[in-house]
Amino acid sequence: MPNQHGKLYVVATPIGNLADFSNRAIETLQQVDLICAEDTRHARPLLQHHGITTHCIALHQHNEQQKAEGLIQKIKQGISIAIISDAGTPLISDPGMPVVALAQAAGIKVSPIPGACALIAALCASGLGVTRFSFLGFLPRTSSARISLFKEQKNNSATWVFYESCHRIDVCLKDLASVLPASHEIAIAREITKLHETIVKSSIQEMLTLFAQDSNMQRGELVVMVSAAKIEKKPDALNEQQLNTLKILLTECSIKTAVKLTAELTGLRKKLVYQTALELSDIRK
Ligand code: SAM
Repeated sequence: MPNQHGKLYVVATPIGNLADFSNRAIETLQQVDLICAEDTRHARPLLQHHGITTHCIALHQHNEQQKAEGLIQKIKQGISIAIISDAGTPLISDPGMPVVALAQAAGIKVSPIPGACALIAALCASGLGVTRFSFLGFLPRTSSARISLFKEQKNNSATWVFYESCHRIDVCLKDLASVLPASHEIAIAREITKLHETIVKSSIQEMLTLFAQDSNMQRGELVVMVSAAKIEKKPDALNEQQLNTLKILLTECSIKTAVKLTAELTGLRKKLVYQTALELSDIRK
């Protein structure tokens, strides 16, 4: 029997510049039977601007758990629904998760209509490494909770990204400076795709100075990116000079003393030097 279910669409809307709304997003919103918007008052001008007259209801963090089951029933009856949020990609620090999860569980097709997303836009223009990154969403509001989160992320080997309100960015940067070295590289993207778009990459120290000098930096919407921890790779072999030092010491003292002195002189791990000393003694036998 053919599947008579409707479909669920997750549709991205612009994060500032209204031209960043794909044709496919507009067509989808025109064609579905119902739009679930984070805030209908916010969505209406955008929908009207594009001639979208589809019925629109509110789906936000305070009602989405309770509405999800009813929406799934509608889709099962053949109704197609689109979720949109106030800006960017729904579910990314925005409502939508309960409906998508229930739809997946019910075997309903969920189709993303991709478009703007602040964290992706920020990362691609930041100049920081983007091969691997972690997204932390919005940070906790208290300083102590933020500091413990920063301590957890301190050795993250990928770039980490978070959303922060302009009202807390100042204290947030100070908290960051209390955990990471002042020279650690970060980037901030503000007002992406809007008139005052600014994307800055600098050390934490320089960023604090910039924020102190330019109060405009504390206005608008912000994405903060922190570069990956620089993990120094421990050497797994002695270089030629270190090997020579060890060889000379081995001719004059016991293995124990030669290893101790070589490790002290070179800064190498004793275990590595000891292993090399054993190999050299084996060769000599
Ligand atoms: N769903 C959205 C997305 O796809 O990026 C994010 C929604 S979240 C509620 C809003 C936060 O995203 C803002 O507080 C800010 O941190 C970030 N954001 C949204 N638009 C932005 C923009 N134009 N420039 C910089 N950050 C933005």
